[in-house]
This record gives sequence, structure tokens and C-alpha cells, in this order.
Amino acid sequence: MGSGGQGQGSRSSGEASPAARNLVKERQLCLAALVSLVVFAGSPWASDVDLAMGERRERMVREQIQARGVKDPRVLEAMRRVPRHMFVPPSVASKAYQDSPLPIGHGQTISQPFIVAYMCEALGLEGHEKVLEIGTGSGYHAAVLSLLAREVYTIEILEPLADEARERLQVLGYDNVTVVCGDGYQGLAQQAPFDAIVVTAAPPEIPQELMRQLKTGGRMVVPVGEGTQELLRITRTEQGARVERLLPVRFVPMVPGGQNRSR
Ligand code: SAH
Repeated sequence: MGSGGQGQGSRSSGEASPAARNLVKERQLCLAALVSLVVFAGSPWASDVDLAMGERRERMVREQIQARGVKDPRVLEAMRRVPRHMFVPPSVASKAYQDSPLPIGHGQTISQPFIVAYMCEALGLEGHEKVLEIGTGSGYHAAVLSLLAREVYTIEILEPLADEARERLQVLGYDNVTVVCGDGYQGLAQQAPFDAIVVTAAPPEIPQELMRQLKTGGRMVVPVGEGTQELLRITRTEQGARVERLLPVRFVPMVPGGQNRSR
């Protein structure tokens, strides 16, 4: 298995205010791009674009994901189906099928495709599950999960990202995903317990509230640590938690939040 991971987004303090100032414009641009892609999909030119992107996704699955040992056919199919280029800003859409994380604004990143597939496989989903994701970001990982489970809840602490992801998932028709803006450390008690929980930002330690919201027999996949991180799979059993160490990884830190905000 390769040492896949997620690049650290730049989080300079100078970045927040210009980003905030440009937010409205950015959102309008993103939405316009999304709408035009959707409209374009119905036009005679669409086939070339779709074909090119579809071929790139095929290659991504073969060369980045299968080649590193991911085998679950449902995961491979989901990775073939979700249009990653529609989850990134138009300025990096041409890089959407590269073997790397990409910036999505607000100092955050969309995970490397391999790591998304690897984490999904590690959850062992069959299709009937209720899943919680912490760290919605672009909504891409949630879209992949939505094809693998019955119901997906995903929590994002940054409101603009939560709003963009919610709109994007809705436009693209991923209607079994609910995006919640709030603090992932608190999970989502009103929807618990979950069959599976996936955390896509790195906490310093295993978040205990999330463990409490996991069903007995449920799995949580989480990158744990500061600086060097390890991807862990924790299975909640009658006897306690069983921890497996999966992979060294690099994710953006999971930031401590305040109270859960509303949806
Ligand atoms: N899964 C995402 C990528 C995640 S990047 C995708 O597919 O695009 C990690 C995300 O976690 C960032 O968007 C960051 O804002 C969010 N995050 C960080 N700390 C958090 C917390 N305490 N609760 C919820 N989200 C958090």
C-alpha cells in the first residue's frame, strides 16, 4: 500500500480576510461553472467533455487506486462515477484526476483520490449503513460515500464550505447526503448511532464523543496525530474498542470548535 495522504492546505493568517471578501464572488463563479457544466451536459458537445473526464477517471482508478491495492468493486465503481472535477474550483478542474489533494479555498483541500477510496474500503460498507463524515470540505468524499451507504451525514465547521457543498451535492443529485454546519468533535447526537464514521481532518486523539455515537460493531476511520499522523480503524465491540493502524497520512488538522451550529 502506498503512503498516500493529504497535503496540508496553506493556512496563513493573511488568507482569511481576502478569502472572506472574495467569497460572494467565488461562490457565484463556482455556481455559474457548475450550472454551465450541467447545462453543457445536455448539449451535443457534452459527449467529448464527458468522455474525456470519464477516461481520466478510469485511468485514475486503474493507476492510482487499484494499483495500490484497493479491491472493493463497489468502491472502485463509486470512484469511477463521481465527477471529481465538479467538486473543485474551476481554476484547478483540469487537475481533478491527478494523484494529489487540491486546494478548495479557505485553506482547505479535497483529499487525494486514493485516500478517499482507501478510507471508503476500510469502512467495509455494504449499502445499508448510516454513515457520518467529519470534514465535508468540497463534498466529494460524501458523494462517494452516498453511493456506498444508505444515508450520509457530513459535518463541516466552515460555513461557506458547508453551504457550497450542500448546494453542489443538491445540484448533482446526491440526495441521501445531509450537510450540517457545526463542530465535528460533537458528532451528531440526534442521528446517532452510526454504522460507520469517517473523519477527514486530523484530531490529536481519538474523539471520544464520536466513539460514543458508533454502533456496537461499527467502524471509525480517522487520521490521528499532530504533525505525523496515522490512519486508524477503530471497531467498537462489546468488549471495548479494537484499534488497527492502517497507514501514515497527512491531513489538515481538525480544529476545535464551539457549540454545534444549526443546519
Ligand atoms: N472530505 C473533504 C476534504 C476534507 S478537508 C472532501 O472530500 O473534499 C478537511 C475539512 O475538515 C475542511 O473542510 C475543514 O474545514 C474541516 N474541519 C476541520 N475541523 C473540523 C471540525 N472540528 N469539525 C468539522 N469540520 C472540520
